[in-house]
Amino acid sequence: MEHIENDEQFAGLTVNEGVAQPPIVNPYMTRRRRRPLPTSGEMVEGILKGDVTTLSRAVTLVESLSPEHQVLAQEIIEKCLPHSGNSRRIGITGVPGAGKSTSIDTFGLHVLKDGGKLAVLAIDPSSERTKGSILGDKTRMEKLSIHPNAFIRPSPSAGSLGGVARKTRETIVLCEAAGYNNIFVETVGVGQSETAVHSMVDFFLLIQLAGTGDELQGIKRGIMEMADGIVINKADGDNIDRARLAQAQFRSALHLFPPTLSGWMPEVLCYSGYYEIGIPEVWEMIDRYFAFIKENGYFERKRQEQARYWMYETINEQLRNHFYNNEDVDALLADKERRVLGNQQSSFTAARDVLDFYFKKLSEK
Ligand code: GDP
Repeated sequence: MEHIENDEQFAGLTVNEGVAQPPIVNPYMTRRRRRPLPTSGEMVEGILKGDVTTLSRAVTLVESLSPEHQVLAQEIIEKCLPHSGNSRRIGITGVPGAGKSTSIDTFGLHVLKDGGKLAVLAIDPSSERTKGSILGDKTRMEKLSIHPNAFIRPSPSAGSLGGVARKTRETIVLCEAAGYNNIFVETVGVGQSETAVHSMVDFFLLIQLAGTGDELQGIKRGIMEMADGIVINKADGDNIDRARLAQAQFRSALHLFPPTLSGWMPEVLCYSGYYEIGIPEVWEMIDRYFAFIKENGYFERKRQEQARYWMYETINEQLRNHFYNNEDVDALLADKERRVLGNQQSSFTAARDVLDFYFKKLSEK
């Protein structure tokens, strides 16, 4: 039946037949078109101008798993590289509850008092499994998150620790090109991601708590050995004496460690991130460290070593992905695993068979 309302001029209005159900999907809604990707040149221009929206978008491209995005991201990174490197990269770690976010908020504001810009990045490989990041959450750093010169980015969520760490390292390059001269890389101190963070920062800060008197036992030796500075948080109220005791214990423990590669003797300080006590002292220590390693050449040497490390890390990651993402290899692996578990074949020959199969496939291409 014809209805005047169905005429084209009344777009948006339809009259249905009798009691017929109206269509569930709005027929006037057209599929939203995806925003076309900008060129790398446009992105780099925005980043160099310090445009935060462009920077965020570029970081999203770095984190994206789409091959198209990855190509663009790599182009952007290459173009930003000559404009990068001009920052202090500081790793911050501590167990959950040590006060990382409170301290980063306070340290961050202290750093920004002298001008400049601060980027806070996070590495949290657990977020892939838990589908939620426990680090780098904007709301945890209340003062910094509204500061115009602070850029806070939570951990990339997808991928292995190596993948997450590589993306964070690439994000550092973008942030530096955008004029961020202080970079904090935060990680939760439970013993997996520290090595990755250590391999991308100049200074590694370990936040500790004074506790029950046996705090030294609870800390992984490896993490302490990596630290350039150990700071005991929550040195406030009736906790001050315990914090001082912990400070003395850490100081004597550090003497038992081999000398650091930089020649720097790690310092131990007490502070309170929440009550803002002892913050300038912590920062003076970091200033002293940078002056020391710039003077003795370690700063440059370490950055070069890190660049080489990340080249090999990236090769390793890509080789692993290429191998494990191959469907035929996957099928063969499942079969070999069964045989190894059933004692029908040794681990060694099973591994050799799978690798032989993989190399043969490669050579046939
Ligand atoms: P994170 O898990 O390491 O990021 O730790 P948070 O920054 O979230 O802090 C954990 C808890 O410790 C929070 O309840 C903070 O309010 C408290 N806290 C952090 N810094 C201090 C401090 O300097 N003094 C005191 N008394 N409490 C603090």
